[in-house]
Amino acid sequence: MQKVESLLKYDREHVWHPYTSTINPLPCYLVDSAHGVKINLATGETLIDGMSSWWAAIHGYNHPELNEAAVCQLQKMSHIMFGGLTHQPAIELVKTLIDMTPPELEHCFLADSGSVAVEVSMKMAFQYCDTRFGLDEACQKKKFMTVNYGYHGDTFGAMSVCDPVNSMHSLYSGYVRENIFVKPPKCRFGDAWDEKYIASFAKAIEKHHHEVIAVIIEPIVQGAGGMRIYHPEYLKQIRQLCTKYEVLLILDEIATGFGRTGKLFAYEHADITPDILCVGKALTGGYLTLSAVLCTKEVAGLVCSGRAKGFMHGPTFMGNPLACSIALKSLELIKRGSWKTQVQAIESSFKSALPALRDLDIVRDVRIIGAIGVIELTVMVDAKWFQEQFVQRGVWVRPFGKLVYMMPPFIINDSELGKLIKSVVDVIRLFASIKT
Ligand SMILES: *Cc1c(COP(=O)(O)O)cnc(C)c1O
Repeated sequence: MQKVESLLKYDREHVWHPYTSTINPLPCYLVDSAHGVKINLATGETLIDGMSSWWAAIHGYNHPELNEAAVCQLQKMSHIMFGGLTHQPAIELVKTLIDMTPPELEHCFLADSGSVAVEVSMKMAFQYCDTRFGLDEACQKKKFMTVNYGYHGDTFGAMSVCDPVNSMHSLYSGYVRENIFVKPPKCRFGDAWDEKYIASFAKAIEKHHHEVIAVIIEPIVQGAGGMRIYHPEYLKQIRQLCTKYEVLLILDEIATGFGRTGKLFAYEHADITPDILCVGKALTGGYLTLSAVLCTKEVAGLVCSGRAKGFMHGPTFMGNPLACSIALKSLELIKRGSWKTQVQAIESSFKSALPALRDLDIVRDVRIIGAIGVIELTVMVDAKWFQEQFVQRGVWVRPFGKLVYMMPPFIINDSELGKLIKSVVDVIRLFASIKT
């Protein structure tokens, strides 16, 4: 116990956590291990995981086959430089990714995190335009176009296409590139479509296409920028408009890829193909950081026949064999197909339990798709209070902003899911009773 206290003390005083202060840090819980959907705290409690470690751990923790893939690769080599050398795990992973995505996507760049994948996709689009249009002084193509409430990562390029308010562009004013933002898709998934919902995007691309290098968007689900779920027709028409105005379409599937929304990839809801596709997060089943950027032959061809004669990016840990081997095994698990019924079961449990929360004054909206359940409140949550409540009830859910949301590992069973959902419902009801 004393060990736990002293570790947590050192953590508070020296270790930076995501989006927190070192002066007044939010409390952290010390994790000892995790198995399946259970997170074991060093203090003895066991928590049912409602977050999949931010979209990633879809098969659960300590999966025997993923462990085996890791150990097996570890004994050969955990890393080898990718410049001038190649290896079977990377080759097979790329082949698997190319086989599971639309046939137009023929080339794949392996990067080391989601944000870097987004940077890579933007640089690819940039080099493509340079070859195609000549990005000299005279050329006006200098901007990316996207929608508000998006999230694409925390590096400067990715930030420049994140929602300007949520990602606090003002904090870095003068340093973040100015891009073109369109009002977010207003039509919700499942609602009736009306042509008026695409009007602002259509108008913006008509007006700005000569300045636009590429459109970048998260398909169907906008994740960390607001957990909004929009109508597939919106995405479908964006694809048509990009084609019409000859603007590249980059889809950021880093959060949604590999089954989370009920389809293998969220773009399948709209039955479209992007020019460039970013995947990450669940790619290794939450084991290691790895991302991939796929693109069409046309994009790769122009990128590589331009001034630079190649694509100008190459991370040190590009194509890391350990990460590739685990990703390959994770994709094998996905190909077995049980994720489909698992995600459907999670979705129907969410749908039978969560919408009733709309009756509370404190609840603005409830949104559900696949294995994602979101409760938007009318007020900002006190993350510390919510965390404590959830931990007391034996679950792990971490809210942000006005959002309390769940995206459990696909392998969660009925009783675990029941407990997770009941805890979320109870805590929100408790919160509502305190607030009113
Ligand atoms: C998480 C996320 C990223 C960034 O990925 P990191 O691995 O955290 O850099 C980019 N885009 C989307 C949609 C994400 O959800």
